[in-house]
Amino acid sequence: MRVSQLLNPTLREVPAEAEVISHQLMLKAGLIRKAAAGVYTYLPLGWRILRKIEQIVREEMDAQGGQELMMPIMQPAELWQETGRWEVYGPEMFRLRDRHEREFCLGPTHEELITDLVRGDVRSYKQLPLLLYQIQNKYRDERRPRFGLMRGREFIMKDLYSFDRDPESLRVSYQKMYAAYERIFTRCGLTFRAVEADAGAIGGSGGTHEFMVLAESGEAEVVYCPACHYAANVEQAECQPQGALRVPVQEAPELIETPGLRTIEDITQTLGTPKSAQIKSLVYQGDAHLYLVLVRGDREVNALKVNHLLGGLNNLQLAAPEMVEQVMGGSVGSLGPVGAPPEIQIVADQEITLMPRLTCGANRTDYHYKNVVPGRDFRIDILGDIRMITPGETCLKCGMPLENARGIEVGQVFNLGTKYSQALHAVYVDEHGKEQLIYMGCYGIGVSRTMAAAIEQHHDPDGIIWPAAIAPYHCIIVPVNLKDGQVAAAAEELYRALWAAGVETVLDDRDERPGVKFKDADLIGYPLRITVGAKSLAQGGAELRVRASGEVELTPLPELPSRVQTMLQAMIEGELHA
Ligand code: ATP
Ligand code: MG
Repeated sequence: MRVSQLLNPTLREVPAEAEVISHQLMLKAGLIRKAAAGVYTYLPLGWRILRKIEQIVREEMDAQGGQELMMPIMQPAELWQETGRWEVYGPEMFRLRDRHEREFCLGPTHEELITDLVRGDVRSYKQLPLLLYQIQNKYRDERRPRFGLMRGREFIMKDLYSFDRDPESLRVSYQKMYAAYERIFTRCGLTFRAVEADAGAIGGSGGTHEFMVLAESGEAEVVYCPACHYAANVEQAECQPQGALRVPVQEAPELIETPGLRTIEDITQTLGTPKSAQIKSLVYQGDAHLYLVLVRGDREVNALKVNHLLGGLNNLQLAAPEMVEQVMGGSVGSLGPVGAPPEIQIVADQEITLMPRLTCGANRTDYHYKNVVPGRDFRIDILGDIRMITPGETCLKCGMPLENARGIEVGQVFNLGTKYSQALHAVYVDEHGKEQLIYMGCYGIGVSRTMAAAIEQHHDPDGIIWPAAIAPYHCIIVPVNLKDGQVAAAAEELYRALWAAGVETVLDDRDERPGVKFKDADLIGYPLRITVGAKSLAQGGAELRVRASGEVELTPLPELPSRVQTMLQAMIEGELHA
């Protein structure tokens, strides 16, 4: 491709609307243009990058026995009504009507559609396992579309669905996808972690992992163990309970006056009681029940874990202060479990029972209790791990200190169990002629988000630094002065020779100053740049520069194609083993 012909409108200024670096650089480098909030056109270079990522995804899906197909974007409401998700999906779903007033949506995901396909066309255990996938646009009317391709309303996703006869076989399919995802993101040159996560709205019984590209701009917070493989979303991370040995406490609880003291911090400041020796008490409401939730004073409640422990309520949230006061007798700053009304269930973090003596609110405004002993002075109805993990805690698996990082979710794998096969009656006939429910998994990759994530991880002040495997082109030739016939001829000859050697090359044949061309080349992030000028030609070569390291060498012209090939190969392998 000749740059003079390429639709690649680069910008010099950072567009004001772009907050994160990937969005800024994609606009500046002329890779995308906005059509509407969260809706983009992929320009030729951007589209090439996406196709490279797609191709890696495709190869790895196919390697695991995945079969590519293409389902419609437009989906009938009836299928979604069958699973109940027409309502559940809420305002994130783009809905439309045809001329006969029939309702449709633009697919935010395809569990319903593919399960419908399989229930119609798969009969026998002999047809399982089955791995079906597609790569296409998805539509979600996100509340806050932002960060360019990171959170779009129209975006490209690879979604694969696995169909198995039983949980063991599903586990194999899940493992295959997990392994494929590790290969895909490695091949894309990304540093990532697979973290245990929450199943959320897609649901399913068997667990799920999110693949997180580690980057400052990531929306998710993760902890990972540098020593073993453990990694988890902070919302999900299991906590090791910390606590002192129990020394029997003789003293009875003592009611103390604490005028104006409302917070854990207030008590520490005034009474000198460490935060870890206090109980933080919060009242939650869910499905018309109230729960008094207790964690140590220096911890935060993890509502997600509380909800899991309670078996999954639909609307668990903090109760309104007026209601709390009415039920508990004291205001929000003076709550505690001692003498809590019997109709409220007490849910405590496991650490609470490891503390020898505790201070807590007395359910009377301006009063607290000290010398409180769990079990002796108050009941615990449900005990479990319900707190947020904090930085520097130790790994439950191996005891090493955990590290915190931010992550961009580029993919997720779900064990769905029979959630959708049950709802849609997708069954097969086993070898005894008996009907059985199909076990399913679903596995998504945000292809367009992966492109953004790659930039978040690979850039410098001059622009993008594409990993070689997903670069739009491998190499750019910059002739310094096209009016010099010798330079122009050498550049043309190189261009031809590089393509002949299989190197995807662009030739910057624009009538621009070299500085402008260099700036654009760095901004766009071609892995290699070859500068052809009278000076280097006089020495029989051209200057070969590596974008990532800035290393430069003068390579004899005839050797350039093979040298470039070798370097690219090394880059791609280096990415694989990084
Ligand atoms: P998120 O939590 O970021 O909203 P999700 O968990 O809802 O994502 P999935 O349903 O698991 O997303 O979709 C699979 C993949 O699709 C995600 O891992 C992510 O990479 C990508 N993806 C999801 N929503 C978007 C979006 N709005 N824009 C771009 N990519 C997205
Ligand atoms: Mg997800």
